[in-house]
Amino acid sequence: MADKFDVIVIGAGPGGYVAAIRAAQLGLKTACVEKWVNKEGKTVHGGTCLNVGCIPSKALLESSHKFVEARDHFAEVGIEVGDISTNVSKMLEFKQSVIAKNTGGISMLFKANGVTALEGSGKLLAGKKVEVTGHDGASETYEADNVIIASGSVPVNIPPAPLTDDIIVDSTGALEFTEAPKRLGVIGAGVIGLELGSVWSRLGSEVTVLEALDSFLPMVDAQVAKEAQKLLGKQGLDIKLGAKVTGSNISNGEVEVSYTDSEGEKTQTFDKLIVAVGRKPYTEKLLADDAGIALGERGFITVDDQCRTNVDGVYAIGDVVRGPMLAHKASEEGVMVADIIAGHSKAQMNYDAIPSVIYTAPEVAFVGKTEQQLKEEGVEYKTGSFPFSANGRALANNAPEGIAKVIADANTDRILGVHILSQHAGELIAQAVTAMEFGASAEDIGLICFAHPTTSEAIHEAALAVDGHAIHMANRKKR
Ligand code: FAD
Ligand code: NAD
Repeated sequence: MADKFDVIVIGAGPGGYVAAIRAAQLGLKTACVEKWVNKEGKTVHGGTCLNVGCIPSKALLESSHKFVEARDHFAEVGIEVGDISTNVSKMLEFKQSVIAKNTGGISMLFKANGVTALEGSGKLLAGKKVEVTGHDGASETYEADNVIIASGSVPVNIPPAPLTDDIIVDSTGALEFTEAPKRLGVIGAGVIGLELGSVWSRLGSEVTVLEALDSFLPMVDAQVAKEAQKLLGKQGLDIKLGAKVTGSNISNGEVEVSYTDSEGEKTQTFDKLIVAVGRKPYTEKLLADDAGIALGERGFITVDDQCRTNVDGVYAIGDVVRGPMLAHKASEEGVMVADIIAGHSKAQMNYDAIPSVIYTAPEVAFVGKTEQQLKEEGVEYKTGSFPFSANGRALANNAPEGIAKVIADANTDRILGVHILSQHAGELIAQAVTAMEFGASAEDIGLICFAHPTTSEAIHEAALAVDGHAIHMANRKKR
């Protein structure tokens, strides 16, 4: 038997690597097992998020957004650039360099914090033992007082559109196209479909998004979703709702997709097809039969609200457990579990204040409840909205699209949800999360002094609008 650790973490994505660093900071002897190997054959830390998720997608989103800004909008503010073009291979190179800096940073942080990095595939055995099988096939078994499973998730595949080497791809393949496909199909108008659909549409693809549901972004506040749908349509995304894919047929380097919608059966031909219909928990070869870990609905590891599994001393966090599949949710669960293991038994995280961001342009960002949820729950509420077209800084930025919306309890004025559609909404939402964590009322936000000119002022105004007091809008409520 090799070394014994206080904590062994399986998986070094944003859940696992954060858990490992925090555990080590708290004085626990910690190891983190990771099996991800990059194209150069080197073990890399950072998981889906840093290698094929949040970070590379944002690199391509930002580069493609800059291109569109320069091509279509610079002239509006007096910058003449003439004809411009893209160099997709240079963009991919830049994206790879961003990945390398981020993943390299984690390995460095492991060293700096004294986390032992174990390379290979980890398997939980009975009695909190972890068998690590290296890339050379040799295995070693380690003991731990506590194990944190952070094995993440993988894309869902659907039988009517099985992946191929280079025509029908998942999100990972869609980050690697070497040129913008002329006709790009996307199955699923979720977060990935809209983000990666936007990237390639900006770089020249004709993009059609086939979404099975009849509603667009049902988890987003309906007012914001409607506005976002309109803007994305104007940018060239052809979003077809109620389109159920029934099959796909590849011939001559293109794919014909069949689907049904309210008008009946249809087909459409694409040069590439991205399948982005959700992700599922990843537990392949992770749990020995006698490890005793209970799996629940759709293969998620069952945990309580402190991420404890049914086996004492074994925790699970991130995409492999219930809750939104978001990097920051995984990380905060990692911090909570490390704290619990270090003796802070009451550590918890607030699942009601996890922000979500969709990095389209403008961005969609929200926290808390939507109007439709509150209606369903029978909660009495009031709302205040403010358009960015009335915000001085948004106008100066030549980015006047979107709205900020605050929803407050009708009786207590406590903020129940904040929904933003705007440039940099993902940055703006942090102040709403802070306010909600401190139990702020809409009036509290209204009484705060915001710097001028900033787009944050739209949130100030939306909070004031809850009681009809927005300054830069004719919104006086009758008393
Ligand atoms: P993962 O990041 O999946 O990491 C799990 C790690 O465990 C992997 O490195 C894997 O190799 C390793 N592992 C698994 N099994 C074993 C084993 N047996 N032994 C050793 N190692 C193992 N989220 C956001 O919040 N913001 C975004 O902008 C965003 N953009 C995204 C864009 C795309 C294209 C995708 C696909 C996802 C995006 N996400 C985003 C989601 C985000 O990536 C995940 O929610 C997050 O990575 C989950 O973290 P995790 O640590 O639970 O799992
Ligand atoms: P998703 O759940 O966001 O969207 C999937 C969409 O596909 C849904 O709208 C669903 O109705 C649709 N769909 C499902 N089956 C279908 C079918 N057969 N035909 C047509 N449409 C179908 O999933 P995703 O976009 O794949 O993203 C996966 C996860 O990654 C999400 O949980 C998301 O939170 C996370 N992610 C987050 C970000 C971010 O935070 N910005 C970015 C990318 C991914």
